[in-house]
Amino acid sequence: MAETAQVIVIGGGLAGCECAWQLAERGIFVELHEQKPQQRTPAQTSDGLAELVCSNSLRSDNPLNTIGLLHEDLRLAGSLLLRLADENRVPAGDALAVDRDRFSEAVEAAVRGHAKIRVVQGEVTELPLARGLPIVVATGPLTSDALAAQLVALTGQERLAFFDAIAPIVADESIDHEKVFAASRWGKGETDDYLNCPMDKPQYLAFVDALLTAEYLPLQDFEKGVQYFQGCQPVEVIAKSGPKSLRFGPMKPTGLDDPKTGRWAYAIVQLRAENRHKTAWNLVGFQTKMKQAEQRRVLGMIPGLESAEFLRYGSVHRNTFLDSPRLLDERMRLKSCPQVRFAGQMTGVEGYVESTASGLWVGLRLAAELAGRELPLPPETTAWGALLHHVIDDSVPEFQPSNVHWGMMPALDVVEGAKKRNKGERKAAHLDRARIARDAWLAAWVR
Ligand SMILES: Cc1cc2nc3c(=O)[nH]c(=O)nc-3n(C[C@H](O)[C@H](O)[C@H](O)COP(=O)(O)OP(=O)(O)OC[C@H]3O[C@@H](n4cnc5c(N)ncnc54)[C@H](O)[C@@H]3O)c2cc1C
Repeated sequence: MAETAQVIVIGGGLAGCECAWQLAERGIFVELHEQKPQQRTPAQTSDGLAELVCSNSLRSDNPLNTIGLLHEDLRLAGSLLLRLADENRVPAGDALAVDRDRFSEAVEAAVRGHAKIRVVQGEVTELPLARGLPIVVATGPLTSDALAAQLVALTGQERLAFFDAIAPIVADESIDHEKVFAASRWGKGETDDYLNCPMDKPQYLAFVDALLTAEYLPLQDFEKGVQYFQGCQPVEVIAKSGPKSLRFGPMKPTGLDDPKTGRWAYAIVQLRAENRHKTAWNLVGFQTKMKQAEQRRVLGMIPGLESAEFLRYGSVHRNTFLDSPRLLDERMRLKSCPQVRFAGQMTGVEGYVESTASGLWVGLRLAAELAGRELPLPPETTAWGALLHHVIDDSVPEFQPSNVHWGMMPALDVVEGAKKRNKGERKAAHLDRARIARDAWLAAWVR
């Protein structure tokens, strides 16, 4: 007789496969639903599980980069997908790149070959709530329309987005604090919630000109014809509507007294704290499809950001994701309906590895729960923990998806009298601190 499912996972992508595998390895029977081969998302070109839809690179494998450190965290925590990525690696310098077909085939073989996983083919159009089982939704950035409609009904229209509008984030240490000033518009709220980069008229006009002539990434076919919501328009779209439109939009200077002049500047770029540690700052309203090198060049014209270190670049894509800080608890359960939890890009992580990391966490956490055990989140000082804490950090008012980066972590301790660390020294210090915390957490909690 067929074994009875204990958990339903919807979506056989990176997060769904990792999650299902982790549960199955702990003796929990999983029903994994995948809409392929009957139906594909517009980005998919194969019928396999865990398809890498674009690049075949899982980015840098060097632990001095946050993504490389996340690779290390996942390997040590027993990730199936990282192991199979390593086994199907192709030469790519210090990046972890894979043969995408062999990688997908290996995941397929592992998942389908597992005695505790049953793969069910076909689109899920409605959450099977009546079955009373925990449900993990891992249907990714291009979740099918019918299911997305049901999720809107469950979460509320304004809490499920279909496009991201990602503004760049820069590291606090890389800002020239002599040129910027802390102030909230009209003195409302905490003074140090915002940093302001003042521009005079020639600086503003040169900046708008650079923005209008910069190079941009093309839209994917399925992204064409998009109507952007007001407030989510890419900065270049606003700039195109007239030379003064940014000055009356995201670069509005009103209500911001520059302490150096006692007056309002001609235009202002506002930076908003990206986390409660104030280690990273978001360029408010600067979502953009500018190429990354162009972002460094053009946004480097903003006073105070000449040497900015970009922790996250701006972007705008088709992307289905939740307002996770408001909706999810640390187990990634929907607070309003705890039977349902989410994994992968839908939770607001961005990228193959981050989605895998999310699936790994949800699998481990749910397995612990079903075994009656506790499992706290990995510490925020680790790459994996920082990413997961970011997803549920409700101190961030306007949540947008993100890759993992150092700015998600608490600031490093400052040693009294010691000279300021340079970028390389900061990375090394983050790495040391993260490894100590991660190893202790793994030793205490992960079996
Ligand atoms: C065009 C595009 C390009 C990208 N390029 C990159 C890149 O180069 N590098 C990078 O790191 N990240 C990239 N990403 C992001 C990347 O797709 C995701 O980070 C990652 O694949 C997300 O993993 P996931 O498991 O959350 O979702 P997915 O990997 O998308 O998996 C979701 C699965 O759910 C299935 N599904 C959807 N709806 C249903 C349903 N109703 N019923 C059953 N099954 C369903 C889908 O068929 C899919 O197999 C890209 C995304 C897009 C859209």
